Amino acid sequence: MMQTDFIVSLADIRFVEIHCKCKTKVTMDMQELPESRKKEGNFAPLICPGCSEQYDSAVAPAVNQFQMAYKSLVNASPESVTFRGVSSRDVSDRV
Ligand SMILES: [Zn+2]
Repeated sequence: MMQTDFIVSLADIRFVEIHCKCKTKVTMDMQELPESRKKEGNFAPLICPGCSEQYDSAVAPAVNQFQMAYKSLVNASPESVTFRGVSSRDVSDRV
């Protein structure tokens, strides 16, 4: 399988997606806390809107932390951070 290197600047990243076993994908804007989450102060939902199952208990807290780190970096200096990935699988393989 072909490997593809890719580099993404933090300045170009904005959305994070949570994927559920049921194939429901939730897309969240890391620059904006969703209205529905503002009250709770949490960025990531705890429950999948597709199947109403709770996500793995490690997922939401980690996504919350990731979003906080993202916000700190974006506010400080988004051009100074890039992500470098090596992908050996097709995007459509991902759940
Ligand atoms: Zn689900």
